[in-house]
Amino acid sequence: MKLGSRGRYAVMAMVDLGLQGNERPVRLADVSHRQEIPLSYLEQLFAPLRRHGLVNSVRGPGGGYLLARPVHRISIMDVVAAVDESTRVTRCLDESPSRGCMANRTRCLTHDLWAGLGDHIETYLGGVTLEDMCREQQPAVTHYLDHNATSPLRAEARKAACRAMTCGGNASSVHRHGRHARSLIEDAREIVASYVSCSPLEVVFTSGGTEANNLALLGPDRRRILISAVEHPSVAKAVPSAVTVPVDHQGRVDLEALEAELACDAGPAMVSVMAANNETGVVQPLADVMHVARLHGALVHCDAVQAAGRYCGAWQEADLVSLSAHKFGGMAGAGALIVRDGVPLAARSRGGGQEYGLRAGTESLAAITAFGAAVTAACGDDTARLRQLRDDMEARMLDVVPDAVVFSGDAGRLDNTLAIAHPDIDAETMVMSFDLDCVAISAGSACSSGRMEPSSVIEAMGFPSLSRHAVRISLGWSTTPEDCEAAVRAWEAANTRHQRRRKTA
Ligand code: PLP
Repeated sequence: MKLGSRGRYAVMAMVDLGLQGNERPVRLADVSHRQEIPLSYLEQLFAPLRRHGLVNSVRGPGGGYLLARPVHRISIMDVVAAVDESTRVTRCLDESPSRGCMANRTRCLTHDLWAGLGDHIETYLGGVTLEDMCREQQPAVTHYLDHNATSPLRAEARKAACRAMTCGGNASSVHRHGRHARSLIEDAREIVASYVSCSPLEVVFTSGGTEANNLALLGPDRRRILISAVEHPSVAKAVPSAVTVPVDHQGRVDLEALEAELACDAGPAMVSVMAANNETGVVQPLADVMHVARLHGALVHCDAVQAAGRYCGAWQEADLVSLSAHKFGGMAGAGALIVRDGVPLAARSRGGGQEYGLRAGTESLAAITAFGAAVTAACGDDTARLRQLRDDMEARMLDVVPDAVVFSGDAGRLDNTLAIAHPDIDAETMVMSFDLDCVAISAGSACSSGRMEPSSVIEAMGFPSLSRHAVRISLGWSTTPEDCEAAVRAWEAANTRHQRRRKTA
């Protein structure tokens, strides 16, 4: 069966209308040109489409056609039926007995078969909407600039994971499969240990950064915990009773305030300060934090989830360090807590004795093996290349919108991160606008229950009026100059759309 040209052309024309956004009337001549359908044929088709309430016509200059209902409320069957196209597969029909088997009032042997198939086609076309068709036409996101959320899997990590999955085995089993799995995990542990400059005995594999942070902070003894005001929720929410230490305008922890807090109580304390912030990329003065903390006998935990795989530094010397593989090209599902020898800690999950008794549960062999491979690959990354790309992009974006605000721009930042706010465009609109232009970025603000919350990081830095405006553009191992070029164009387009809206308002 082949759907006739009336039905096919009508559906193509209606999808074309849907793709234009239905904001202003579309001329049939334009549809004819785009879809290569004769104009006179389209004119014939649009009369019944209008009669069936699927389109409205707008007369006069600037006139044309608009969809009469939202795209999700027009099914393909609505369109096909409106132009009177048959969806039946043969002439073996009840409706035209003179031409089908019903002509002589007896059903042929295959009548029910073809009638049933016709019914299935109608049901199928009734379940597909113009919205589904329009979505299929949208080009996929092709410029991924959200590495601080998750970095795409590196080829090396994928290969290592596939190899591990092929071998399989539980690393706690004593047979050869188990021993092989154990050796893969211990190889990864050595790679991570050598990267952080610690002993393999100090590497505890976890499911990721969140679990590592929770394991570090919900420790055995009731220490007072001090955290910076810009910590990730997996730190801040793990210990709601923690003392919050303020940050400056660049997002760096206030060392004097930290020292004062430590001095005001002599009891055992733990200081948790991240190596680099996930929203702004600002690098914390960790050597100083550790110096101050140690003067007061406090332990130091460092959430190095955004730093690991990107730069080596003082974070490697903290008493407890959290890492996550998927931020630099490993798989989600593997991370680690580095626990320096002698640091007291209690297991959060109990059961098997895996990971030195600190994290019970069968290790994720593929994710941990990929973690090791991603660390090795990340060591070869050219971070100066990313800094150059980021700096050029930032300068061009500021040229387009001179009163845009770059966060932490005057402090040491991760080479890959740009946090920027357009003063007149909120982050949600900006992210959607970039997405329309096929560039994937993030809002600094978090989405909770369908509402965009202001960014607590930007607020803590003293920019409350911009806390709903900051977006994060984060580069990584797969980023090309074309990706950054696309981001600049998307920023320009968002600004132009905004100005056009303002003029027409
Ligand atoms: N810490 C920081 C700074 C992060 O950016 C993230 C993730 O965004 C986490 C912790 C949580 O890591 P994971 O996603 O591996 O649980």
